[in-house]
Amino acid sequence: MHRRFIVPGALGAATLMLAIPASAAAHSPGAPGIGDPYYPAYGNGGYDVSHYDLRLKYQPDTDRLEGTATILARTTEDLSRFDLDFLLDVGEVRVNGAKASFTTSGEQELEITPAKPLDKDTPLTVIVRYSGVPSSKQAFGFTSWHRTPDGGIAANEPEAAAWWFPSNDHPLDKATYDVSVQVPDGTQAISNGTLQSTSSRLGWTHWNWRSAQPQATYLATLAIGRFDLTTGTTEGGIPVVNAYSEDLGPNDGAARASVERTGEVADWLSGYFGPYPYDALGGYVPNTDTGFALETQTRPFYSPRQFANGSNVSVVVHELAHQWYGDLVSLRGWKDIWINEGFARYAQWLWSEHEGEGTAQELADYTYASYPADDPFWTVKPGDPGPENQFDTAVYDRGALAVQALRNEIGDDAFFTVLKGWPAKYAHGNASVADFQRYAEEVSGKPLAALFDTWLFQPSKPDAAAARAQSLAKPSGTPAQPRSWRKIAATNDVHDHGH
Ligand SMILES: [Zn+2]
Repeated sequence: MHRRFIVPGALGAATLMLAIPASAAAHSPGAPGIGDPYYPAYGNGGYDVSHYDLRLKYQPDTDRLEGTATILARTTEDLSRFDLDFLLDVGEVRVNGAKASFTTSGEQELEITPAKPLDKDTPLTVIVRYSGVPSSKQAFGFTSWHRTPDGGIAANEPEAAAWWFPSNDHPLDKATYDVSVQVPDGTQAISNGTLQSTSSRLGWTHWNWRSAQPQATYLATLAIGRFDLTTGTTEGGIPVVNAYSEDLGPNDGAARASVERTGEVADWLSGYFGPYPYDALGGYVPNTDTGFALETQTRPFYSPRQFANGSNVSVVVHELAHQWYGDLVSLRGWKDIWINEGFARYAQWLWSEHEGEGTAQELADYTYASYPADDPFWTVKPGDPGPENQFDTAVYDRGALAVQALRNEIGDDAFFTVLKGWPAKYAHGNASVADFQRYAEEVSGKPLAALFDTWLFQPSKPDAAAARAQSLAKPSGTPAQPRSWRKIAATNDVHDHGH
C-alpha cells in the first residue's frame, strides 16, 4: 500500500567520489535504505543507533512541534555522509559537536554531510534542531500524525517516527529513548515506558518518559491532549500507567473496562510467552477517529471505535501479545509480518478459550470453513504477503490458522515450548519466518517445511486433507460454530482489529 522508490545509491557514490579529496576516497555515503525488500527507502545504512534523546515542545492550538533530537550511534562503515528519515523542517545539524551541512531528498531522507568524514566503528553524536506542523506532512501518500481536537498523536505502522523525530526508521535498528515534552499546563503528553517525572514552570508542564529497553522506531509513540491518567501495579510488580482522553464520550466506560484489565492480561499472557519483558506497562485511548490499534511498546494505542460495542478485552490481548511477538522479537523485514500478526491473533483465540467462548481449535475450524476456496482471502500468502497486503485480514486469520496447524503437527508440549522459547531466544533482536521454522523444527525434532509452505506460502486454500491432517476441518458436515462467532466476524472488520 505504501510504495517507495529505490534511490540509485551506486550512482550517488560515484558522483561524490569525484568531489572529495583522495585521502577520503575510502569514505562513501551510507545507503539511503537499510535493505528492506518491501520498503527500500526505510531506514538507512552505515550506522547503528543506541539512544534517542528527544526534547520537544508542542502547542496544541497550532499543532506546532519544536524539538532537539540527540542521537547516539556508532558507524558501521567509513562514511562521507549518511541519512536520517525525517519530515519536519530542520534548522541545524551537528555531528560530533561540529556543524554539518544537510539537505533533503526522496520522500523523507535527511542527508547529512559532516565537516569531516567518519571512520568505521567510531561513536557518532548527531544533534538535530527542528520544527514544523506534523499534520501538514505526508510521505508516500499517508500521514502517521493524527490531529485531535486537543492535540495530536504519532502512531502508525510500518512508519510513524518521521512525523516527530529524525531516526534510522526500521525495526532492525532498535534503541533506548528519553522523551521529554513541554506542553501548556493542563495538557498531558503520553509516550512509552516509565514516567520519570513531571514539572511545571512558566505555564508549561514537562513530561519526562524513559524507555530503558531497546525499542523499534515505529513502536515509539507520542500523544498530546487532555488525558485522565490511571496508575497501578501488576501482580508481577510492573507499574501500569493508562491514559484516556477526557473527550471519549459514550465510549469512555467501555474503553476503561477494557484497558484497565491490562495488568491482568499481561500476567495471563506471560503464562504462554514467558515473563513480561519491560519495566513499564499500560495503554492509551486518545480522542481520534482512526480505526486501528497499535502495539506501541509498553503502552499500546487504542482507538475509541474499538470500544463502540462495549468492552473489548480481545483487542487488549492482541496488542499486549505483540509486546513479545513483534516488540521484544521484531521482524527482520516487513515481509515477516506473520511473526507479529499470526501470533497476536492466535493469542486472541487463546483468550476466547480462557473466557469460555470457543477453543482455539473451534475458532480455527470456524475460520477455515468461513472462507470458500475461491475467496481472494486464500490468495494472500501470510509468509510473504507483499507490501500491498501486509495488513490484510488473511495475514491475521490465515496466519493464526498456520499457528494452530503447527500446534496440531508438533503436539502441545513442543508447541507451548516454542511459544515461550521464541521470545527468549531472540529477545530485543530481530528474526524472520525462516528463523521461526528452524526453531520450531529444532524444538519439535520434526521437519516442518511442507507445513509452513502449505499454510504460509501457497496462494490457495489448503485442501481438506491437509486441514484434517492438522485437525483444522471436521471430517464432514458443518463446522461447529463457537458461541463467539459473532465476535470473530467483528474482529475481521477493519475498524475493529488491531495492527
Ligand atoms: Zn497486530
